[in-house]
Amino acid sequence: MNLLLIGGGGREHALAWKLAKSPLLDTLYAAPGNPGIAEHAEIAALDVGDHDAVIAFCRENSVELVVVGPEQPLVNGLADALKAAGVRCFGPSAAGARLEGSKGFTKDLCAKYDIPTAAYGRFTDPEGAKAFLDGRDAPYVIKADGLAAGKGVVIAESRDEAEAAIEEMFAGRFGAAGAEVVVEEFLSGEEASFFALCDGQTVLPLAGAQDHKRVGDGDTGPNTGGMGAYSPAPVLDQAMQDRVMAEIVEPTARAMATEGAPYVGVLYAGLMIGPKGPQLIEYNCRFGDPECQVLMMRMKSDLLPALLAAADGQLSNFTLQWHEDPALTVVMAAEGYPGTPKTGGRIAGIDAAESGGAKVFHAGTKRDGDDLVASGGRVLNVTAMAPTLREAADTAYSACQAVEWADGFYRHDIGHRALG
Ligand code: ATP
Repeated sequence: MNLLLIGGGGREHALAWKLAKSPLLDTLYAAPGNPGIAEHAEIAALDVGDHDAVIAFCRENSVELVVVGPEQPLVNGLADALKAAGVRCFGPSAAGARLEGSKGFTKDLCAKYDIPTAAYGRFTDPEGAKAFLDGRDAPYVIKADGLAAGKGVVIAESRDEAEAAIEEMFAGRFGAAGAEVVVEEFLSGEEASFFALCDGQTVLPLAGAQDHKRVGDGDTGPNTGGMGAYSPAPVLDQAMQDRVMAEIVEPTARAMATEGAPYVGVLYAGLMIGPKGPQLIEYNCRFGDPECQVLMMRMKSDLLPALLAAADGQLSNFTLQWHEDPALTVVMAAEGYPGTPKTGGRIAGIDAAESGGAKVFHAGTKRDGDDLVASGGRVLNVTAMAPTLREAADTAYSACQAVEWADGFYRHDIGHRALG
């Protein structure tokens, strides 16, 4: 069977690497892809924003399943266009992707269906949003409603800071994403992510993970897209996973079906595990990046039949096998990230890095003649699995040291919460 994978980051390299192991796969195409993905896929010169072109490509190349990695094409309705053209797609409709694309939509859904989450208000003017702060204590959580590349959330330590954030959002700091603002109660506890596959009705749990958002060791410095991750997350033991499924993920899938937007794809729940049990912080409508890299390493079963079953509404009675061993990934980023990264630096030593058992996924690389060079902020995801998290970390960090790249940096404490 021929597949088309949409995306070009570390998440999609991990998906390509895993899909390429499937005996069901004939040709994997990828757009836009990257040099790591190109080891497993034929790169298609396709504008993924041009739905007609994607459909025509699928027809010409007998593509039987399109797997969409990032959120933006889903929010833009790529899955709807493919479905209307009779092309099978793994990924939610635009209506389903509202779970990520509109924080207000998700909060209202939680309120209507009794799904545990922080108390909130939705506002289209600064006065209303500021009034919501009355009688509440800091910290305040202020969010742009729409997609803001992980930057649209401000945790304000004072009323002044909260009001300034509200003003800035309505003044257009996040463009249309901030035309509506959600103000939330602050939740305390330990954050974790939980992933599940949905086929519109049935939910199949995948696994839990934890990531590291801050750029610096000891969780310091500005937020990033994620500097590393590991799976499983100790805070999500089996009993807690069962609660998350029963109290949050399954009710959400039922609610979306009831609302006429059955959800097909990965449901990624960002959770706070606190004194009240698990509470939903946010949903994402795709695999996490870099969490996908550790999930793919830990998944023992073939991924392709699971994605097909989800796209076909056939997940009931489907099971997946997992490696018990933990996996951990370290993000190597370019100097300057998360500000302006220094791109164009030559990268070597990947074979040496992988010789100790780690896998180096490409996130922001490109070819420059025979050279591999950095082309983004987050550039490589050095990933390892081992009987203990300590050994996985040691393997990943030895591999990082073998990578020859003058402009690269990485955190030295990925996994610290679980390693103690
Ligand atoms: P990302 O894309 O980085 O996941 P996002 O912009 O979609 O982020 P959220 O995940 O909703 O936004 O929030 C970002 C971070 O802010 C969370 O990971 C969490 O650390 C913190 N946060 C969000 N909401 C709350 C809350 N109600 N209480 C405490 N912390 C919160």
